[in-house]
Amino acid sequence: MPIAPWVEWLDLIFPRACALCSQPLIAPQLRSLCKDCFERIHPIEDGCLRCGAPLERKSLHETKPSRRKRPACPHCQKRRYEMTRVFAYTTYANDAIRIARKMKEPHSESMARQVGKAMAEWLIHATAFAPEHYDALIPIPQHWFRRLTLRYNQSEVLASSIASTVGSRVEDAWLQRTRWTQKQGMKTIAERVVNMKDAFRIAQKHKDRIEGRRFLLVDDVMTSGATLDQAAAVLKRQGAVMVDAVVFARGLGGSRPAPSKSSIPTGQ
Ligand SMILES: [Zn+2]
Ligand SMILES: [Zn+2]
Repeated sequence: MPIAPWVEWLDLIFPRACALCSQPLIAPQLRSLCKDCFERIHPIEDGCLRCGAPLERKSLHETKPSRRKRPACPHCQKRRYEMTRVFAYTTYANDAIRIARKMKEPHSESMARQVGKAMAEWLIHATAFAPEHYDALIPIPQHWFRRLTLRYNQSEVLASSIASTVGSRVEDAWLQRTRWTQKQGMKTIAERVVNMKDAFRIAQKHKDRIEGRRFLLVDDVMTSGATLDQAAAVLKRQGAVMVDAVVFARGLGGSRPAPSKSSIPTGQ
């Protein structure tokens, strides 16, 4: 989208700053995080093929070269996900937590767009992702009241940024939120599953578009996977043949009670 001249003039008068470290931004129309801050976010180099968690170097060594047959990692050994696989860009380590939190603040579209572009480039260059594997990208929907207060859905912006970079399509009206759900941050894994039960449905007028199709869910964060799993289950009940997911940050507290609110962004 071309940048309006008045926006460029405003940037000259009031230079915009990085949302994390406050240093002035070069080309602020295109980004809201500076290069230094973004480079401190380390993409996961070789994550678990099921749940996206980073694997120990030792287990990587043991399982090569047959990566396809790699056993489940410690984070998903005892879990059966509805999703076939999860692509996780990074973990909650370092500044990724701060970025995930900032993206949950109102008017953080430009940050989400920048993060989405980085996720898309990582998907293409560092993972087995191929856009032709999916019929559409589906962002995790928000409850209408959260939308009203936040003014945007970070998952929708991430999905549209990824889609425009990899050449996929986004369907953001097919999946709907049925009810308000409590924040997941302080809940145990069992409580998270109960909290998200029946939280999604397929929009009535799109019900006949799901059968036989393959989807990539998009969300900002994943800890237990309860949110994404519920969304995937709804799509599969309607006939989807495959549902994968991509997230910006992967929390690793899924097998135990979630860490305190102060150290982890709350999943939806
Ligand atoms: Zn910065
Ligand atoms: Zn795993």
